[in-house]
Amino acid sequence: MKVCRTIHLADRPEAEPGPQHFELRESTLPEPAEGEVLLRGLWMSLDPYMRGRMSAAKSYVAPFEVGAPLEAGVVAEVIESRNPRFRPGDTVLGYLPWATHALSSGKGLLKLDPGAAPLQAWLGVLGMPGLTAWVGLNVIAGAQPGETIVVSAATGAVGSLVCQLAREKGMRVIGVAGGPDKCAQAVAEFGAEICLDHRAHDGRALSRALAEAAPEGVQVYFENVGGKVLEAVLPRMGIGGRIALCGMIAWYNDITGAAPLPFAWNAILTRRLRVEGFIVTDHQARAPEFLAEVLPMVQSGQIRWHETIAEGLESAPGAFVSMLRGGNKGKQLVRLG
Ligand code: NDP
Repeated sequence: MKVCRTIHLADRPEAEPGPQHFELRESTLPEPAEGEVLLRGLWMSLDPYMRGRMSAAKSYVAPFEVGAPLEAGVVAEVIESRNPRFRPGDTVLGYLPWATHALSSGKGLLKLDPGAAPLQAWLGVLGMPGLTAWVGLNVIAGAQPGETIVVSAATGAVGSLVCQLAREKGMRVIGVAGGPDKCAQAVAEFGAEICLDHRAHDGRALSRALAEAAPEGVQVYFENVGGKVLEAVLPRMGIGGRIALCGMIAWYNDITGAAPLPFAWNAILTRRLRVEGFIVTDHQARAPEFLAEVLPMVQSGQIRWHETIAEGLESAPGAFVSMLRGGNKGKQLVRLG
């Protein structure tokens, strides 16, 4: 009997998720009905936004249901097809369950050219995180050559591409990352002129270090984390600065934690800042423009990216929790097949 393994949401975490919030189930491999394809997962993406979907709170995307499979971006191979658009052997990208196999009607599946780039790149630098970096920098922040940009989570899937595209544009890049290794990488590989270690400093020391690194002020902040990094950056923004508000991972496990609202509001007013939150899915129509710019740079090796690979579906919950703590170096992936 061929078996399909799937990970379901067992319970909603109130703080950091643990093994009790995930449940591995096994079932017989299903047969595709007319119009369906049977997929075998190759690569699965783990992304910070999934933590939000594990909570019941309403957001821009519906919560995962307790008892239902978790979902992710997955690169998969078609192994059986009763859909004329797909043939066995095709490689596709889709939004699918956390599972070794899945049935699909074909809706929303994108066929990939296996020769264009390593398959898993379509979950990272060429996929949703890549488009997020490109949109945040160009469309939301309106970044300009000569400006100083601060990028938090600077070595992550989104941040590492923001740093490189900003540098390519002729910006001065200041990274913020966790730990000396990640900071060294931001400078050596991703084009940051300097990178500040948020784990080595409290908020005040981080802010002082930033004042030294950017004595003329910061024009653009690509915000991925919130928390004390945001508190450190806000007073260092120059007049008329822009903040592309992409994420706030420091608060994902504790959204009740006290956010520094009066302090932040005052900084935004007195520095005449423009703060714009954005969700990448609203900008899907810009994907061809993004790929036209970034795919050739990835193919030529000009853009670098790193991956942290967890082996096998069973390792996904642990890898997800580790990523939320900063255990990943670059895009967090699960190798399914
Ligand atoms: P990353 O690859 O950057 O992984 C997450 C990183 O966040 C960790 O490696 C860690 O890096 C950092 N981090 C975790 N906790 C903290 C903390 N308390 N303080 C500072 N940094 C912390 O993930 P992604 O690139 O996939 O995502 C980056 C951000 O972009 C997330 O906030 C995500 O939600 C957001 N996002 C938003 C989208 C949108 O449409 N708006 C779309 C995609 C992503 P370190 O060790 O350096 O601290």
